[in-house]
Parts: sequence; structure tokens; C-alpha cells
Amino acid sequence: MTTVIIGGGLAGLAAAYKLADKDKIIIIEKEPQLGGMASSYKIDNYFIEQYYHHIFASDKELISLIEELGLIDRLEWLKGTTGYYFDGKIYPMNSPLEILKALPLMDVIRLTLLVLKAKSIKDRTPFDDITAKDWIIKTAGESVYNNFFLPLLSSKFGDNKENVSAAWLLGRVQIRSNRGTKGEKLGYMRGGFAALIEIMAQNIRDRGGIIRKGNASRIEIIGNSIKGVIVDGEMIECDRVISTVAPHVLSKIMDTDLTGLKFDLNINYQGTACALFGLSEKVMDDIYWLNIKEDVPFGAVIEHTNFIPTSDYGEHLMYTTSYFQDPKSILWSLRDEEVIELYLKGLEKLFPQIRKKLKWWRLRRDLDTAPVYETGYRKKVFPFKTDIKGLYLAGMFSQTNYPERSMNGSIQAGFRCVDEMA
Ligand SMILES: Cc1cc2nc3c(=O)[nH]c(=O)nc-3n(C[C@H](O)[C@H](O)[C@H](O)COP(=O)(O)OP(=O)(O)OC[C@H]3O[C@@H](n4cnc5c(N)ncnc54)[C@H](O)[C@@H]3O)c2cc1C
Repeated sequence: MTTVIIGGGLAGLAAAYKLADKDKIIIIEKEPQLGGMASSYKIDNYFIEQYYHHIFASDKELISLIEELGLIDRLEWLKGTTGYYFDGKIYPMNSPLEILKALPLMDVIRLTLLVLKAKSIKDRTPFDDITAKDWIIKTAGESVYNNFFLPLLSSKFGDNKENVSAAWLLGRVQIRSNRGTKGEKLGYMRGGFAALIEIMAQNIRDRGGIIRKGNASRIEIIGNSIKGVIVDGEMIECDRVISTVAPHVLSKIMDTDLTGLKFDLNINYQGTACALFGLSEKVMDDIYWLNIKEDVPFGAVIEHTNFIPTSDYGEHLMYTTSYFQDPKSILWSLRDEEVIELYLKGLEKLFPQIRKKLKWWRLRRDLDTAPVYETGYRKKVFPFKTDIKGLYLAGMFSQTNYPERSMNGSIQAGFRCVDEMA
């Protein structure tokens, strides 16, 4: 059997990794680099993710895979300190005491009760049709919503913040609320997640898999069965296709009407514009992740070298990032230099010395970086196996990536998809 996998991100690589002993595998990736959303820049002598990445202790499949590939000694669990910028000041938010300093006492009590309630909910299904906003206000009041959750929802979902479901919020609270009194530990592979991608790719090649650069422009289907994939004008015949591309790309590369896909292809995705700055000095004292309640064109500042030691890189690294909901957004239409200038002007409001510390910058932007987990999303989750013989789907749109897309969710999607093939 020949299986063509469209997309060399983590879902595609995971599927190939699991299938390489059974099928002839051909991965098609349109970019020169593998890894999709999890790919890295090579700066001088080190790798750093183009989009900030860390993992959680609950990311079981990813951690097992790292272990299986002999990379576990690189995985470290470090304190991921968080802060909140408002009224011209950074408030650390790592312990109950620090949260008490930043929020009114009644809000802290109500927030604690909300977290306890969220953690006790086992079945999130009924919460898929309620907005997070309504549930927060009903459970903890307007003040907790406005002071605590609104900036978080705004930074994550922009104009879609009021449409996001309570099911998403519950999932998020359940993953993120095990901070204890000393703050949360997050996982990171020293040297970067680039090594994971490289070793996976090598392992697939060693077992006969082919990884090819190319643009898949058409999935050919005859009757109700897969015939092949057209890549840069050339037909690659195959028995099965695993597509890992975003729904709107899938709808362009196959005749979804004719082939009667019975699920909704209109998943709403949001884009990201993420700048990485190389700096001569640190910017924040000891905050890794800063959420911001201020009129600036980004939602979060992430000082990577307040998480991973600067000595790994020989310089300080900081991301500034924003999601956008619409391709007409200036974060998508402006030139790279203009986006960076916009971000620097915003950063100057928070950190007046920023330009003096700046050595270099990079910018990565994509349109389809995360599904918007709005009410009713559960019904939109894609199946792994479709009614078309030989067509399978795995990626950010899969059930394993709900209610939060992650590297773990995409790896699990690749694995689960292969299980369904069997
Ligand atoms: C800003 C940001 C921060 C993140 N932070 C974290 C984090 O901290 N922790 C975490 O676990 N996860 C994080 N993630 C999520 C994680 O990176 C993704 O969930 C995961 O990498 C997605 O993998 P995927 O294979 O499903 O999709 P993708 O990575 O999107 O892979 C799809 C691949 O298909 C290719 N492709 C598309 N169209 C075609 C075509 N026509 N022909 C050939 N190839 C094509 C693309 O180039 C891409 O490489 C983050 C993501 C973003 C955007």
C-alpha cells in the first residue's frame, strides 16, 4: 500500500512514524522546512521556535514519543512565571499571594471558587453551547470577568472573545490550574523542539519513508476512492491519503461537494503574527509570560530567556505576539518591517528602553494557526476516517486538539488516524 501524507507538521510526521513499517510513505511538505507551526529558526549556532512553545505534564503522547526517540534527557521542567500588565505596572501572578496583590480580595475568592468548580466538571459537552463569558459572569460575576478573564480572552481570541465556548474555558482551566504555591512548571526540550522534528524525520527516512518538498494542489478521487495526489503538476498514485492541512486548504484541493464529505468544512480559524526579538539585555525581571491590559497592538510578551537560561543562546530572546481574526487585519496586510515597527512602538509604552536593547528581529505570520473554539465547535470536529475510501484526516481540527490545539494533540491525531486505518 502507498500512503501519501499531505503536510510535514507534527500530525503528518506522527502518522508517518507510526505507519512507516507497514506502508510505503510519501510525505509532501510545501515549505523548505518540516515542522509546520512547530518549526524553528536557526540563529547562528542555535535553534529557536518560530512560535513560542512549551508543554504541559498532561502531554502524555508527546512525552512518550520524546522518550521513545531517546531525547528524554533534553526535556526539562522549569518554572514558567506569569505576569499581568495593567495601570502601568507588571503584577506577577504566580502564587495566591501575588494574585491577591493584583486583584480585589472578593475577585480572588470568586476566582478560586470558579477554578474549583471548573476542575470538578467531568463532562464538558453541555458547556459547548454556552459562551465562556456567560458562564464566567454567572459563576463568578462581572468583576472577575472584566478584571481577569477579559484580557486573557482578548489576547487569545481578539474580536471572537465573546463567541468562545465555556467548554474551551473549562478545558483550559483544567490544564492550567495546577500551579501549587510556587508557580507552574512547564516543559521544554533544551536545544529546542527542532531536534524532535529532525529525529522523527530521520527515523521515517531510515525505514524507507520519503519526505518530499512540494505543493499538493489536488487530491484525485475516482468514484468514491482515492486515486492519487497531484504535487507540483505531477500525479503521485496512492491507495490512501492522510491530509493534515487546514479545512479551507482541503476544500481547495479536493471536490468536497462531489465527494460528499458530510462534515462542516467551515471551521473558523485565526491567524498569528509573532515577532521574535534578539536582545542584548533582559527586558522583564523574572516574567516569562506577560498578559497585557493596555492599548497595544499585541496580546502577550513572552520572554523566552526568563524560562530557558540565556546561556543556551548567548543572548536574550523575547516574543511579542498577536492573534488576528480577519485576513484584512493590518497584522496580515502590512509588510514585515511595518509590523515590527508597530510592535516596537507598543513595546516602548511598556518598556521605554526596548530599542536600545534590540539586536535583530524575525517575524512569522500565518492565517490558519488555531481553530476558534466558539460555541457549537464540538460538532465541527473532523473525523479521522471519511466516507471516501482511503481518505483520512488528522490535525489541529481533530478531536485530540479540542479544546486546545497543541503539539501533543497533533501527534495524538496522527497516531489515532493510523489506528483508524487498521
Ligand atoms: C503561536 C503558536 C503557539 C503555539 N504554542 C504551543 C505551545 O506552547 N505548546 C504546544 O504544545 N503547541 C503549541 N502550538 C500548537 C502546535 O504548534 C500545533 O498544534 C501543531 O504544531 C500543529 O501541527 P499540525 O501538523 O496539526 O499542523 P501544521 O503544523 O499546520 O502542519 C501542516 C503542514 O501542512 C503543510 N501544508 C499546508 N498546505 C499544504 C499543501 N497544499 N501541500 C503540502 N503541504 C502543505 C504546512 O506547510 C504545514 O507544515 C502553538 C501554535 C502556534 C501557532
